[in-house]
Amino acid sequence: MFLGHFGAGLGAKKIDSMPSLGTLFFASQFIDLLWPILLLFGIERVIIEPGNTVFTPINFVYYPFSHGLLSVLLWGVAFGLVYYLIKKKLKTAFLLGVLVLSHWFLDLLVHRPDLPILPGSEIKAGLGIWNSVWLTVTLEVVVFAAGIFFYLKATKAKNKKGNFGLWSFIFFLLIIYTLNMFSAPPDSAQAIGLVGLSQWLLVLWGYWIDKNRTTVTRE
Ligand SMILES: [Zn+2]
Repeated sequence: MFLGHFGAGLGAKKIDSMPSLGTLFFASQFIDLLWPILLLFGIERVIIEPGNTVFTPINFVYYPFSHGLLSVLLWGVAFGLVYYLIKKKLKTAFLLGVLVLSHWFLDLLVHRPDLPILPGSEIKAGLGIWNSVWLTVTLEVVVFAAGIFFYLKATKAKNKKGNFGLWSFIFFLLIIYTLNMFSAPPDSAQAIGLVGLSQWLLVLWGYWIDKNRTTVTRE
């Protein structure tokens, strides 16, 4: 899943306006920000195998540290704890922890059963929506659109950059998602890792959007 994780980050702003959109993206996409680093270091592994699912040629053979349920739970706790130690906001820290965990459950919908539960265990989960392109695209777009809807309800632009930043981000994500669907399979795990690393820029983009928007307050 890709767009859906950003949808979760956007929508979370409606629950709590305190954290920056960048921090919300950092949490909702945290394990996919970690994963390319682990891939590049050879700690986690993928095989490129066209047809693995209809939607993706990537066979996620080994990724217990970034995408194992227990690991993600611990990453969520760690993320929330670090935020709490810095900002002293318990409610926000809890929300960010839950957002980290939300990634696993959104991935659970689309992945074939390749998501580990515990490190070292062979039990893996995945509901396999990636076996249908239309179901996948519908799910991604619905979650992304819902996130945008709630984000727009929670914030308004302070200046032109506030609107431009947000809408260009939305279109950029839709374009790369579409291009990715029609492009040839990547030629190596390194290539996947390097492209994956560029997602850190999307987190920075989130901080920039947030700086130029303000919370809608209701009387
Ligand atoms: Zn993921």
